[in-house]
Amino acid sequence: MGKYSDKILVTGHKNPDTDSICSSITYTNFKNKLENTDKYAAMRLGNVSDETKFVLDYFNMPEPALIEGALEEGDKVILVDHNEKSQTVDGIENAEVLEIIDHHRLGGLVTATPLFMRVQPVGCTGTIVYQMYKENGIEISREMAGLMVSAILSDTLLFRSPTCTEADKIAGKELAAIAGIDPEVYAKEMFKAGSNLCEKSAEEIFNIDCKKFEMGEKVITVAQVSTINSDEIEDIHKKVSDFMGEGIKASGCDMAFLMITDIINESSTVVCAGEGAIDVMTDGFEVEANGDAVYLPGVVSRKKQMVPAIMGAFK
Ligand code: MN
Ligand code: MN
Repeated sequence: MGKYSDKILVTGHKNPDTDSICSSITYTNFKNKLENTDKYAAMRLGNVSDETKFVLDYFNMPEPALIEGALEEGDKVILVDHNEKSQTVDGIENAEVLEIIDHHRLGGLVTATPLFMRVQPVGCTGTIVYQMYKENGIEISREMAGLMVSAILSDTLLFRSPTCTEADKIAGKELAAIAGIDPEVYAKEMFKAGSNLCEKSAEEIFNIDCKKFEMGEKVITVAQVSTINSDEIEDIHKKVSDFMGEGIKASGCDMAFLMITDIINESSTVVCAGEGAIDVMTDGFEVEANGDAVYLPGVVSRKKQMVPAIMGAFK
């Protein structure tokens, strides 16, 4: 029997962001209410970020429990905000995947049994969870609304990311009203809480929101941090350059990219490491290199802009 076999675990991805944490909590609440049970448990696969900490404190909610070690035979799990094996819990092949609720490309996870899967091309998992509350007539509390709207504001960069859809705006507006927040004011406070990057080490910065992708034979890491302070971008770039150059050799991945996203100016500075990585960026976006980095105006989405450009380079 698995060590968690009395519960059904609901978890987001490794290096959890605000959507992964908030969607695991709100989807757990939804399932427990829908089925009038307490067998669903919100879990996490790593430390919560400063941004997420701000959100949980604001709405007085505890952190989900950490999944320690690998899942075992008998464990049951629901994946939210991801579906790729390289981003999910260790031991996933031993566990039963009951559901996937997500808004990313399909990344090749293989399951042993049929499952419920809901994947929509919207800006945030929180938007899908909101729709499921509505469709099933489940009441949304102030806390749950607060977490869902925070996830939406975080993933869509205050509705400005190209991933943001009409559905995200509708959900965000109604949830903000239930939560009693002004999205503009609240989002700026939230981003600021997540932005004190200069105090962190290069390794910490790189690992805040770092995802691995398998593309053919290659393993590619794409990390992203965002800031509302344009002045600190060059400092962050300088700080991470050496770490990424060295780190790539040790990590066993072929290329690594760090998007330093400027939320206010809607652009990203992308620091590149690994053989050919800079060419992937200069060719993919038709820009000039600046040392080991490129500046990409209008590029803020890893999912919709960066990953497709990188995949294009490997075709
Ligand atoms: Mn996420
Ligand atoms: Mn998400």
